[in-house]
Amino acid sequence: MSTTTFDVAIIGYGPAGVTLANLLGQYGLSTLVLEKDADIYPLPRAIHFDGEVMRVFESAGLRAAVETISRPGLTGMHFNNAQGETLVIRGGTNAKGPHGCATNHYFHQPELESVLRQGVQRFANVQVRTRHEVLALDEAPDHVSLQVKDLASGATSSVRARYVVGCDGARSLVRKVLGSPMTDLGLHQPWLVFDVRLKTDVPSLPDHTVQHCDPARPMTYCNVTGNRRRWEIMLMPGDDPAELVQAERLWQLVRPWVNPEQADIERAVIYTFHSIIAQGWRRGRLLLAGDAAHQTPPFLGQGMCAAIRDVSNLAWKLAAVLQGGASDELLDSYESERSPHVHAFIDLAVRLGDIIQTTDPQAARERDAKFKAGQPTIFEFPAPRLGPGVWQGDAAPVGQIFPQPELADGRLLDQAIGLNFAVLGTPEVLAQASDPTRALWHELGVVVREARDPQLRAWLDAQQVSAVLLRPDRYIAGLARSGAELDQVSQCLPHLHEAVHLTA
Ligand SMILES: Cc1cc2nc3c(=O)[nH]c(=O)nc-3n(C[C@H](O)[C@H](O)[C@H](O)COP(=O)(O)OP(=O)(O)OC[C@H]3O[C@@H](n4cnc5c(N)ncnc54)[C@H](O)[C@@H]3O)c2cc1C
Repeated sequence: MSTTTFDVAIIGYGPAGVTLANLLGQYGLSTLVLEKDADIYPLPRAIHFDGEVMRVFESAGLRAAVETISRPGLTGMHFNNAQGETLVIRGGTNAKGPHGCATNHYFHQPELESVLRQGVQRFANVQVRTRHEVLALDEAPDHVSLQVKDLASGATSSVRARYVVGCDGARSLVRKVLGSPMTDLGLHQPWLVFDVRLKTDVPSLPDHTVQHCDPARPMTYCNVTGNRRRWEIMLMPGDDPAELVQAERLWQLVRPWVNPEQADIERAVIYTFHSIIAQGWRRGRLLLAGDAAHQTPPFLGQGMCAAIRDVSNLAWKLAAVLQGGASDELLDSYESERSPHVHAFIDLAVRLGDIIQTTDPQAARERDAKFKAGQPTIFEFPAPRLGPGVWQGDAAPVGQIFPQPELADGRLLDQAIGLNFAVLGTPEVLAQASDPTRALWHELGVVVREARDPQLRAWLDAQQVSAVLLRPDRYIAGLARSGAELDQVSQCLPHLHEAVHLTA
């Protein structure tokens, strides 16, 4: 039994766990990561993340490294019918979208995880133990004991942490311990994932992702990175899963696009896509993040993105509780904020699934007519508001992610504010804030910045406000038109040693 009590134990070193480890490393929290596998899972699941997620990697100091292994995808995703006519497009923005980068990024998951793991090596306060499986959790008033098996030696030992975050995936042990029931959003469908590496240029393959909404066999085509290409293929009634993953059958399925002379098979696996959200992401010192808390069909490429948003929401709250003396009620705002947000993304993925997965020819004809095939509607990723939590205001954009403008000195905003709260406002409104508000800002290390930068000023003008209060995860905590309103919205900040007021 070790006598050390870590601030945080992270169970699972997938995308959620490794990103949380980087963020907690930056906050200086003593962190232990426990992962049962020896190495990064060698085959990719996720291939896409969005601009907000790149911004989280940027906060973790890893944007440049992530850019070396990913490519921006500017042309979004096309939903085509069986005739190849486009029904709907999920758009993409140019190289500088709202987050100061492209809206879509494509990558090979093992390479991304490797870059993120290298990032963790920067932190002496983060220990990583692979081949260590957590077997059981024992909750005490001031800590959690984790029973851990070293899979190399077979020895079992116990470690302690003040908080445990289960980033332990779809079959989460932590979720089982919490006993969290699942809300089922209705979609459960097996799909075959077929990855290939091109041996030669195949110019007919598009750069953008295509959803082939063909009722005879719905399929998705994705340009990943380099010579990697993916087809996701819906299983139809009567399919034999064992036969479907045989090489001959795989090449037959993708014959219209590619053949074995042009590409090598990397893998073929059948996954069942789910749409579920756990109810109960926290009990006391136990928390859930990523696939342990929710799963979405990948039609928007958003499952891992949601995992990264979870840990971005959670990291600063854990730091505020463990280092800043904030009440641990702050951690209740994690699920109340994140659950409705991820719900909005999963709902949209399920609705897109209804478009893609139509297998009745008549229903497909009606769908095509409704979408006026050939005159595609273009939509962008939603930017849902957080659920009730640490923010104040009646309407959007409060509770939404703040964009990342470029500052007058050429830097992007996040570089100027770091992992802190920030108040950005006109010199006049900042001067009107009361002394107690200033004292609170000082106590919390709030970065106060006069919004003299044209892009920042333009945003404030467009909202018809004089100041915006941002959280360390870049979500908007409040807007103000006057010093009095600035005092008012600052009350939502997590006062040290006090209970947190949750926005109803
Ligand atoms: C076909 C497919 C395509 C996808 N495409 C995309 C996409 O393009 N974009 C996107 O954003 N998302 C996508 N996703 C979803 C994405 O892959 C997942 O949401 C993401 O990997 C979840 O990360 P995680 O860290 O929460 O869990 P995981 O990656 O599952 O990691 C959990 C880790 O916990 C470890 N673990 C579990 N139990 C224990 C224990 N008791 N002790 C120690 N370690 C333990 C496991 O070994 C594992 O390493 C896709 C998913 C699929 C299936």
